[in-house]
Amino acid sequence: MIKNIILELTRIVQDVSLIETTRGQVKYIVDSISQVIHVDVCSLYRLNEEGEMVLLDSHGLDSSQPLVIPPGKGLVGLIARSRHPLNIDNAAEHPDYYFVAQSGEENFKSFCGVPLVSFGKVIGVLVIQRYAARKLDDEHEAFLVTLASQLALLVGSINVLTVTSEINSIHVNGVAGSPGIGIGQARLCTNIRLNSVAEHLCEDKDIEIRQWHELLNLTRADITHEQKLLGDDVSQNISAIFDVYLTLLNDQSLMKKVEQEIRAGFCMMSALRISIHYFSERFMQIEDPYLKARHEDMLHLGDKLFDVWQRKESQHQVAVEPLDNPVVLIGTNISVSDICSVPVELLAGIVCFDGSSLSHTAILANALGIPAVMGTGVLKGIVSEDRIIIDGNSGKVIVRPVESIVDEYHKLLSDALHFGHQLEQLCDLPAMTKDNVRIRLLTNTGLQADLMPGLKNGAEGIGLYRTEIPFMVRESFPTEDEQIEDYRKVFEAYRGSPVYMRTLDIGGDKQLPYYPISGEENPALGWRGIRFTLDNIQLMMTQVRAMIRSTEDSEKLHILLPMVSATSELDSFINLLDDACLQLKQEGFIRKRPKLGVMIEVPAAISQIPFWKDKIDFLSIGSNDLSQYLLALDRNNSRVANRFSSVHPAIIHEIYRVVRMAKQYQVPISLCGEMAANPVSVLLLLGMGIRQLSMSSAKLLRIKYLIRSLTIDQTEQFLKYALTMDDADDIYNEGVLTLERLGMSELLK
Ligand code: PEP
Ligand code: MG
Repeated sequence: MIKNIILELTRIVQDVSLIETTRGQVKYIVDSISQVIHVDVCSLYRLNEEGEMVLLDSHGLDSSQPLVIPPGKGLVGLIARSRHPLNIDNAAEHPDYYFVAQSGEENFKSFCGVPLVSFGKVIGVLVIQRYAARKLDDEHEAFLVTLASQLALLVGSINVLTVTSEINSIHVNGVAGSPGIGIGQARLCTNIRLNSVAEHLCEDKDIEIRQWHELLNLTRADITHEQKLLGDDVSQNISAIFDVYLTLLNDQSLMKKVEQEIRAGFCMMSALRISIHYFSERFMQIEDPYLKARHEDMLHLGDKLFDVWQRKESQHQVAVEPLDNPVVLIGTNISVSDICSVPVELLAGIVCFDGSSLSHTAILANALGIPAVMGTGVLKGIVSEDRIIIDGNSGKVIVRPVESIVDEYHKLLSDALHFGHQLEQLCDLPAMTKDNVRIRLLTNTGLQADLMPGLKNGAEGIGLYRTEIPFMVRESFPTEDEQIEDYRKVFEAYRGSPVYMRTLDIGGDKQLPYYPISGEENPALGWRGIRFTLDNIQLMMTQVRAMIRSTEDSEKLHILLPMVSATSELDSFINLLDDACLQLKQEGFIRKRPKLGVMIEVPAAISQIPFWKDKIDFLSIGSNDLSQYLLALDRNNSRVANRFSSVHPAIIHEIYRVVRMAKQYQVPISLCGEMAANPVSVLLLLGMGIRQLSMSSAKLLRIKYLIRSLTIDQTEQFLKYALTMDDADDIYNEGVLTLERLGMSELLK
C-alpha cells in the first residue's frame, strides 16, 4: 500500500513537470492527489505578496470565482503561521475556522492541511477535505507532508498573477542569456534537425566520402556568406563565433570520424549524425557548465551541415523574408542561420527552450546586443502572431502580455536603450575615477569566440585565460604545437596588452573527456589545479613551453598558477619554469622569462603570501573559489546558492587582508572572479586599494561607468562602514544605497 502511494506520488511530481501551463499543472496536482488518497477535496493555496492565501485550484471546491483568504485567517492561515500540519475531524468546530462563502466548503467535515515550504519560507498550503468527520490516518498525513515538500519547489515558481488574473498570458522564468528587454512578435524556429535522420547504410563509400568533402566546402562558403549578411560592423564583433564553427569544420577529428563511419558502412548523413552525437556527448559529460555548454556548438554545426545539404538537394536557397515588425525568435535551439534570417535591427530577442547563459546562442546574442533567455523548457501553444516580452536581465519571458505590462516594459526598454548608448560612449575612455585614479579593466576568456567581445568593450588585456578550454575541444591532450596555435591567436588578438594565462585547471567540476578524474568523494577538495598538473609534470612542461613559445613579446605573458596552497607547489613549478626556459634557450628560442603569479583562491594561500612574495611577480584573487572555500558553499549547488553572498563579512575581511599584504610587500594584485563584475563588491574592492579587475566582456562597460562616477574616497568610506558590519545582507543593502546616492541606480537593474 505504502509502496503504491510512493510510486503514485513520484509519478505525480514527474508528470507535473511535463505539463506546459501552470494552470494545467495545478489542476493535475489537485485531481491526482484526490484520486490517490481517495478524498473528496484537494485544494492548493499560494501565498501572494499581500500575505493573502489565493486558491490556485481545487478538486471538489468551487474555484470558478477567485477565492482569497485574508492574511493569517482561517485554518489555512494557522497552518502557515505555525508551519505545522493540521489534521482534524471537524473543521467547523475549530476556533480558527473561517467560512468562505460560495466555495461549498461547508459540506465537508474533516480537514487536513500541510504547509508548503521553499527555502525556509511558507509559500502555500495543501489541503484535503472529506464529507465524513474522520481524520486522515497517519500514513496518509505523512505522505501528504512528503508530497508537499516535493511540490514546494514547483509551486514556488508559480506566479499567483499568472494563474488568477492573466488567464491568457504565460509567464516563464528561464536563465538570463543576454541582457536587455525586447518586445516583438513570436517567430517559431522549428527546423528539422540532424537528430531526426534515420540510420541508413550506403552503397558506394567513395561517393559518400566525396559528397562529405563537398558538403564541408559548401558549409564553409555558407558560413562566410552569413557572416557577410550580418553586416561588416557586426560581423567583426562576432566573427570569432563563426570562426569556432569554421574551426570545428576544419578540424581533422570531425572530418576523420565521419569518414570512419562511412567506411563502416553508413551513408553520409547517418555518419554525420553519429559523429556529431559522439563529440557533443563528450562535452556533455563534463560537469563544468561553461565547457558543458560547448556541446551545443557541435549540435548547431551538425544542424548547419544538415541544412546546407538539404538545400543543395532541393536546390533551393533560403530567402530572407521581408519583415516590418520586431520579432522574437523562439525554439529549442536557435541557430546562426535562424538569426541571419532576420535583419539585426528587427531582432527583438531570442528565447531558447534549451541551453544556458554559456551557450553559443547566448554568446552570439551578447555580441549582437540582443536580449536572450535560455533554458525555459518547451513552451507550447505559442503562435506566430503572439506578442512576446523578453527580459534578458532577469530571464523572464511573457507571452501574450496584458497592455499595462506592455506599457511598463516599453518604459523600461527606453530607459535601458538610453543607458546602453551612454555606456557605448565609454568604450575608448579610460577607467578613471573622478579623483583621477586609474583602474585597469581586463577580461576573462577561454574560448576563441570570447576574444573579440572583450576588445570591443575596451578590455586592456586578458586578466584570466582559462587554458582548460582549448584542452577540451580535443580528443587527447594537445601537443605543444597545437597549444602554440591556440595561444598565438590570443596574443595576436591582444597584441601589446598583458595576457594572464593560467596553467591547466582541471579536476573538481572541470573534467576532460579523455582523462576523467573519478572516484573522489569530495572533488572540490581533491586532485585539481596545480595538484593535478604537478603530478603530471610532463603535461605541465609541454604547456609551459607552449605558452612561452607562443609569443615573442614575453613581457606580456603572465603565467598564473591555480589552487596553490603550499610553498612546495610553488617551488616545484619554479624549478619547472627554470628548466623550460633553459631547454628553450638551448633550442634557440630566445625568450625572456615570463612573469609568474599565483591565484589566491585556497584560503591557506593567504597566510603564506609573506613567504612567497620574493618568488612571484603578482597575485590574482580568484574570488569564486576563495568564496567557495571560505564559506564552505559549493559554487555549483543551487540548493545553497541563496546562502552565498559575495559581500559576506568573511570574504571582505580576508580579501582586505590579502590586499594589505600585497601593498606591504609591493606585489601587484588584481582580482579575476565574479566579484569584479558586481557593482557593490567593486565599491569595496576599490576601497581596499585594488586597481586591476578582470571580468567577462559583457560587464566591462558597466564597471567602467561605475568607476568613472565616483571618487576613491567614497569607496573607502563605504569599505570602512562595511568592515564594521556582520551581516552580508546589511552590507549589500548599504552598498545599494551608496550606489543610489551616487546616482548609479541604473547599475542595479
Ligand atoms: C576563481 O576561482 O575565482 C576563478 C577566477 O577561477 P575559476 O572560476 O575558473 O575557477
Ligand atoms: Mg578558481
